[in-house]
Formats: sequence, C-alpha cells, structure tokens
Amino acid sequence: MSETPKIIVVGGGAAGLELATRLGRKLGRRERAQITLIDATRTHVWKPLLHQVAAGTFDPDQHALGYLAHARWNHYRFRLGVMSGLDRVERKVILAPLRNDKGEELIPSRSFCYDHLVFAIGSVSNDFGIPGVKEHCLMLDTKSQASAFQQQLLEALIRANTQKAPLQDGQLDVAIVGAGATGVELAAQLHQVTRQIAQYGFETIEPDRHVRLHILDAGPRILPALPEKLSGQVQQELERLGIQVHVSEMVTRVTADAVHTASGLVIPATIKVWAAGIKGPDFLADLGLSVNRINQLKVNPDLTLEDDEHIYAIGDCAACVMNEEGDLVPPRAQAAHQQASFVAKALTKRLKGQAFSGRYVYRDYGSLVTLGRYSTVGSLMGAITGSVRVSGWIARWVYLSLYKMHQLTLFGWWRTGLTTLARMLRRSIDPAIKLH
Ligand SMILES: Cc1cc2nc3c(=O)[nH]c(=O)nc-3n(C[C@H](O)[C@H](O)[C@H](O)COP(=O)(O)OP(=O)(O)OC[C@H]3O[C@@H](n4cnc5c(N)ncnc54)[C@H](O)[C@@H]3O)c2cc1C
Repeated sequence: MSETPKIIVVGGGAAGLELATRLGRKLGRRERAQITLIDATRTHVWKPLLHQVAAGTFDPDQHALGYLAHARWNHYRFRLGVMSGLDRVERKVILAPLRNDKGEELIPSRSFCYDHLVFAIGSVSNDFGIPGVKEHCLMLDTKSQASAFQQQLLEALIRANTQKAPLQDGQLDVAIVGAGATGVELAAQLHQVTRQIAQYGFETIEPDRHVRLHILDAGPRILPALPEKLSGQVQQELERLGIQVHVSEMVTRVTADAVHTASGLVIPATIKVWAAGIKGPDFLADLGLSVNRINQLKVNPDLTLEDDEHIYAIGDCAACVMNEEGDLVPPRAQAAHQQASFVAKALTKRLKGQAFSGRYVYRDYGSLVTLGRYSTVGSLMGAITGSVRVSGWIARWVYLSLYKMHQLTLFGWWRTGLTTLARMLRRSIDPAIKLH
C-alpha cells in the first residue's frame, strides 16, 4: 500500500457523497488518507427530489450542491468525469474523455490509482428492452433528465395556452409507467402544478379537460412497498383527484403518441414517463466483476465485493442480500444513507489496522409517499410496535426528515439550519412553480 492510502469513491449521490464527506472529515482532514470523489456531474441534487424538479416545484439551480466547494470544505478532492473502466491489477479507475455540450474534448481519458475503491454510482431506469421506451419515454435518473421533463411540460403548456386552434381534449395527457413511489408522487405533483399554473396566466388551459394523467403498472396494485390497505387508500385518493390508475397492465410498446399494453389498452399521451424499475449502469457488467441479472455488483455482508476485498459497493448499484430468503436490500435512500455510514466506519478501522468484522444490517424504518400538498401517508417500522400507519403532518414531517438527515451529514446542524431558513425565505418571494 502507498504511504498515504488512497480511497476513491465513484458516484457522489445519496450514498457516495455522504461517504466522501464522512471520510474527508475523519481521515482527509488529518491527512490519514487521500479521499477522492469522482462524479459524472458538477453538482449534486438528492435523487428523491427529482420528481419535484420534473414538475417544477423544486428549482435545482437554487439548491444544488457544487462538488468542488463542498470538497474544499470537507477535506476531500473532487474529480469530474464518467468512470468507464477498471484495472484491478494496477488498481486504477479509468475515466472516459470529458466532453462539453458541443462534443468537444475537454480532458482526455485518464486514470486514478486507489488502495480502496467504493462504487456508489446508483442505478438507471430499466426499460426491460420494451420497444419504443428509449425513444419516446422520459426518465428521471438524473437532474438533467428531470429538468428536460420540466422544460417539455412547460413548452407544452405554453404552446397550448397560446395556440390559435381550440385546445383538444387530452392534448396535454401524461402517461406514467410504473406505480411505485416515483410514479405516484410524480402524478400527484403534476396534478398540483397543472392546477396552480392558471394563476400565472395560463387561463386557457382547463386541467380537467385538457390534462389527463394516467399511471400504469404490470402489478396488481400500486405502491407494492406499502401495506395493501394503504396502497388501496392512495389509489382511491388518486382517483378522487381524477388521475386514472391502470393496474395489471403490462406495457408492450410505446410509440410517439401512445402507450400500448398486452390487454390491448392504448393510452394516448403527449408526455410519457418511464419509472418501472431500476438496474445498475450497463458498464458494470463489463468490468469482469460478479453482477446479478440487473447489473448490480454482488457484495459480501460487509459490503466488499465478492470478487475483491479492496472494493466496496453501496447504494442502488450493490446487490446486498438482507435475509435468509435471499431478498436484496431495496434501492432506497435510507439504505444508501446507512451503507455510507457503515463503510465510513469500516474503512476508518481498516486504515487504523483494527479488525472490523461487522456485517451491514439493513434497518427498514418504513415507507412514505407524499401526494404533494394533498396528503402524505405511509407505514413506519417500530422495533416493538411493528408496522404503524401514519398520515397527515406526522407523515409529512418524517418524509421530510429523510432529506434533512442527508443534509445534516453533508453540512452539519448549523448550515442545515441556515439552508432551511434560506429556503423558507425564498419560498415566500418565489412563485410556487418554476416558470422558466
Ligand atoms: C424520483 C425518485 C424519487 C425517489 N424517492 C425516494 C424516497 O422517497 N425514499 C427513498 O428511500 N428512496 C427514494 N428514491 C430512491 C433513491 O433516490 C435512491 O435509492 C438513492 O438515490 C440511491 O443512492 P445512490 O447513491 O446509490 O445513487 P444516486 O443517488 O443515484 O447517486 C449516483 C451518483 O453516481 C453518479 N454516477 C453514475 N454513473 C457514474 C459514472 N459512470 N461515473 C461517475 N459518476 C457516476 C451520478 O451522477 C450520481 O451522482 C427515489 C428515486 C427517484 C428517481
């Protein structure tokens, strides 16, 4: 091992950014290790907020965290780039050439040496090879995709509001494939936004006539992560809002203007969103490492790779078995948060030469779903009480606390408090929706 151990974290999302921050403060500050975070983008937006970015109720430009400044304050180095390869013999991470929006090369391909490497590169939407999905559906994997969605929605609304020809029924229809939390929360946000938009000069649009929202899922019910009774209640609430829910509908094809299902249902839609499952980024399958059928890296109970004790995987890109039945830790922000904290401890001990025989144990604190300003519901897991149903402001508060925990890890109490205050102040002077 080199003199100052080198730890590289690839992916600065819910898991990787928390890990780099913790390691920077613990090890980087005293130069006990050199910590490097690599990410494909310059700024971080917490992924569970992306449906709000898409709907325009959260402005990423105001709230994104810039990696370079954060690295400086937290004693790690940040390198911009997309990981494309791995040399396990030389222990090097290889980055693809970095290009700007015009395709011009800014930095040629380069590599970085590591003693310990952590994969935290998240997941991407899984289109299951269904024809037309890639070409015609929007996905919510990155901030730029969510912003592109917001622009497409806004342009469709501007066009509809100013066109000379009368608006057609359903001209602005949206079909969301996938009735997990992302799809359901997005539908509620879009419902809210298309009702609020009239206040900003979009009076021609009558949401009930011109904007129909559909959610489709192959499974027999929405929100499979929630207890059945709760998912039934959320479905009733969505239907009360006029959102059309189609369960047990397997999508077989997507065209430029419609979504087609195996039962013969055709849902015409101007905007189509795919939120029907995840997989690890494709290049993970080409690194010579063991992956499962959805490209997640297979890890041991201590989150090191089955193939290499010097490499860890955390967050959505890790296939971590959590029980004797072989179920995997679900791809959730709470798992990413817990795993970042676990690996920070493991690496700190390892570098001190202390034994660390810990196993990562996933703690499920429950699942919550927010229907924007309409309601928030979910179930919380208590050690003694088991699953407890929550709704109203308690549910809303717990839902928000997950993001606060992320911010606390990144900024500490003082800055998180100031950021929260600044957000509250901005909310009182900004429009409720991003209109540009
Ligand atoms: C709309 C939406 C709503 C959600 N809501 C919830 C919720 O309410 N509760 C919950 O628990 N979970 C929720 N999730 C899931 C949650 O966001 C993820 O489980 C969590 O973000 C996973 O963290 P991660 O660090 O593994 O990946 P991410 O947070 O996605 O971070 C991955 C990082 O890796 C970078 N990266 C990717 N590939 C490369 C590469 N080749 N080279 C360099 N960098 C790379 C990306 O730029 C990104 O910064 C939601 C997800 C979505 C999409």
